[in-house]
Amino acid sequence: MFIQKSCYTCGMSKSKHCPDCGTKVGELHDPGCEVERCRLCGKQAIRCPCDRKDVEKLGDKLIWMGAWPGDVECIEFGFTTPGGRPDLNRLYREAKWSPEQGRFVLN
Ligand SMILES: [Zn+2]
Ligand SMILES: [Zn+2]
Repeated sequence: MFIQKSCYTCGMSKSKHCPDCGTKVGELHDPGCEVERCRLCGKQAIRCPCDRKDVEKLGDKLIWMGAWPGDVECIEFGFTTPGGRPDLNRLYREAKWSPEQGRFVLN
């Protein structure tokens, strides 16, 4: 039996696609995607309280990077649990969201 491991349209490994909306690495999420972050506050875009006009002023929406938002920063800053998982609690405590960069940065 042939098992489809990569996407029909782009040939990329399916695990690289956004787990919610299925967008490809480097592309925008579909509207209403659970994974998309708000550029202004760094929280889930579909639940954050920001005014969409303020968000649009900052420029492009955040694209899917091939990993959960926050995981990339945790690994870069060395914030991992003893089990080697990204420590998001520590990230929220010790780093801050940069709207300009669209990612967490260290103070
Ligand atoms: Zn998505
Ligand atoms: Zn927001």
